[in-house]
Amino acid sequence: MKAALIWDSSFASYRFRPDHPFNPKRLELTASLIQAMGLLDGDRFRLVSPRVATDAELQRVHSAQFVRAVHRLSERDADEGGAQRWGLGTEDNPVFRRMHEATATVVGGTLVAAEMVMGGQVDRAFALAGGLHHAHRERASGFCIYSDLGAAIAWIRERYGCRVLYVDYDAHHGDGVQGLFYSDPEVLTLSIHESGRFLFPGTGFPDELGEGDGYGYSLNLPMHPQTEDDSWLDVYSEVLHEAAEAFRPEIIVLQSGCDAHVLDPLTHLRCTTRIYEETTRITCEVAERFCGGRIIVTGGGGYAIWRVVPRAWTLVWAVLTGQAVSSDIPHHWLERWQGESPCLLPDRLHDEPGSFAPVLRPAEVAATNRRGVEALRRTAFPILRGWSLGF
Ligand SMILES: [Zn+2]
Repeated sequence: MKAALIWDSSFASYRFRPDHPFNPKRLELTASLIQAMGLLDGDRFRLVSPRVATDAELQRVHSAQFVRAVHRLSERDADEGGAQRWGLGTEDNPVFRRMHEATATVVGGTLVAAEMVMGGQVDRAFALAGGLHHAHRERASGFCIYSDLGAAIAWIRERYGCRVLYVDYDAHHGDGVQGLFYSDPEVLTLSIHESGRFLFPGTGFPDELGEGDGYGYSLNLPMHPQTEDDSWLDVYSEVLHEAAEAFRPEIIVLQSGCDAHVLDPLTHLRCTTRIYEETTRITCEVAERFCGGRIIVTGGGGYAIWRVVPRAWTLVWAVLTGQAVSSDIPHHWLERWQGESPCLLPDRLHDEPGSFAPVLRPAEVAATNRRGVEALRRTAFPILRGWSLGF
């Protein structure tokens, strides 16, 4: 198993404002924890720098007008009007200087991951800054300007013609990626997230099934806000296995946002670090079975930047690379960062079972979540199976 971690300090330039919740500090913390845990040691694992995506690469999924507008706005110190047409200059997505280069570097990181995996240099790659899953063809949204995920998937489709399974376990619906491939039957999108009735972007319901030839190739599992690990893993595992069995993907692209954690300040789910190990393990198993092990992983959301993100993505990297990991976080890492952290840093990689108060009615929450599975079984799965039989 060979794997690449795509990260360097240039990713820190993707920053809207000093007080914005999408804080690239979390990437530095994660990369330093992965290194401190010894999980980049040995010659099978490589730390690789991103590159800046070209305009042509961005225009595989974005309009030329949108890319031109981002270029133009990048040269200003503040929004001078007209930015909102493109989803910029808003509370979520304020204009910042050199934002084109910053977000094109995020796209370039995910493209490097895709190139290394598809070119056979590594089996798996983790583009730490990637995962901008709310970016639309002509509109920035939800802290996302360009779609690194869309650009990588479109490049894989164009260059290799592979069937792509896009899986998104960020707590928010992966609406941008879903929209970019909504009518494409060669890209199956599967998003598990907190229900859009309670959380941005307000979409991601089981009846969003795709359109035209892509009808049946867009799967959504909205979760009740109180969802805990067991229910999350139950529905994720079941739907992923059934969908992959029917679709037979050749490559998996996984968005591994870690904002479903109980400590995340922007969401209402009640999961622990266990889901980051287990969902990644389950997804890697599916990649082994159908895709010759090939999987490209990105980051995504994650706003508990001190207590959750570094631990969650270190676990993702450990599982992805098949490395056993001790739960003890090295003292030297804690000493390095505790002074900057506004809260006490956990000294264990895994949350202890029972660390957080249980929900009052777990059976009702689980039953609500299962309704999404049943809906997909009635609607999308027959279409996917029909396709696989050549109807
Ligand atoms: Zn999110």
